[in-house]
Amino acid sequence: MQAILLRHETMFQKQDAVLQRTSRETEGSAKEIRSQKLLQVNLQEKTGSNEKLNDEIETLVSKLDLEKKRKHLLFQQVHAPQGIVRVMCRIRPDTSGPLLEYTTETGYFYDHATKLAILEEGLRYEFDRVYLPEEANGNIFNGISHLIQSALDGKKVCIFCYGQSGTGKTYTMSNIDEVEHREEGVYYKNDGILPRASIMIFNEKKRLRDLDIELIISGCCSEIYGKKLQPLKAGRKRIRRETRRVDDLEFYELDTADDFSALIDIGMKNRHFGATALNNSSSRSHFIISLKLVKELKNESGLKYEGRLNLIDLAGFERTEQAQTAGTAFKEGNDINLSLMELRNVLTSLAKNEPPTYRNNTLTTALQPFLGKDYTTLMLIMISPLKENWQATKQTLEFAKIARVTKNHHRENRQTNVPASADGKRGSRK
Ligand code: ADP
Ligand code: MG
Repeated sequence: MQAILLRHETMFQKQDAVLQRTSRETEGSAKEIRSQKLLQVNLQEKTGSNEKLNDEIETLVSKLDLEKKRKHLLFQQVHAPQGIVRVMCRIRPDTSGPLLEYTTETGYFYDHATKLAILEEGLRYEFDRVYLPEEANGNIFNGISHLIQSALDGKKVCIFCYGQSGTGKTYTMSNIDEVEHREEGVYYKNDGILPRASIMIFNEKKRLRDLDIELIISGCCSEIYGKKLQPLKAGRKRIRRETRRVDDLEFYELDTADDFSALIDIGMKNRHFGATALNNSSSRSHFIISLKLVKELKNESGLKYEGRLNLIDLAGFERTEQAQTAGTAFKEGNDINLSLMELRNVLTSLAKNEPPTYRNNTLTTALQPFLGKDYTTLMLIMISPLKENWQATKQTLEFAKIARVTKNHHRENRQTNVPASADGKRGSRK
């Protein structure tokens, strides 16, 4: 009996020793697991903060990029003298017939083309920039966006598109790329000046708001059709009183980019279009978008800058035999050609430093304030590369030559020799 008890006791002692060892080992593993868990949590936290750091770096890099772009624009702006008409030429892509033979040359100080030589005619033209057929709307905007920035910084800017019908004026100014899902604030490849300017302007509004500066944007969309300057708004309401001054028209406050595109949409829908042999959606009026960009500092200084941006898509001049128009379209074509001839006369006088006559025509009367010496003006000249359009192209290039030597009008010289106007008064209305 005693021997049995002794055996059991020894067995219990052995089992106890095993149990104590197992419990020690379990405790050890638990410790290890706990410390591994701790390491894992630590690692996760580190990865998380790494991701946060990466995000912050990315934001900083994109902010830096933006500031670099702004600096570049400001630099260009400083080098953009006011009171001079700058002229750029865009050759549209078109392979529907025999092409003109031409070459372009890069300017001495630039890395872009500034000279255009029409070989078979032995003619050479110089511009501030020449855009080749393969260059897209985005390239054009990159070359002119400093002017939009100028307007945002309180300067007065006017950009015209001029050229024969069908050469791409409306495409350059207003085209909206046909993408399936348009995202707000994204530049799409074929977007024209208007949708791109809208993004730039409303981004600036947001940026300034963070700096406690309010940018108040208001705009007006109008056209000159025949002899009338008329606002383009929903429902084509009757005009209360006729005017030849854009500033007499109603300006609407534009709080968001959507407000701006609604203004343009209504304008484009109500604008006069018609089909001719040169362009099956030919603009039959001069289209004017005028924006006031008022910047107010919210601090006690109350400083206020008022920039202006006028974007003008002129109707294209047309050679009747090419446009093959009759009836109303023929008369519209004549009105357009006449108004453009008057614009040419005004620029010719300005180029010769002679006082121009603005009042002969609604177009020149309306544009007079935009040709003032306080304005920075850009003519975007559109031409066709086709041989069959050479006569019209030559006319455009000669117009550009005149515009290029034009200094904007000096206030002192303004209209001293104008004939009496319809209401019997002399002189400028400004
Ligand atoms: P305009 O306003 O000078 O009379 P449009 O802008 O209406 O001419 O252009 C006529 C046609 O040619 C339109 O269908 C337009 O989409 C096309 N077009 C003009 N320029 C270009 C271009 N650079 N790239 C592609 N298509 C163009
Ligand atoms: Mg057009």
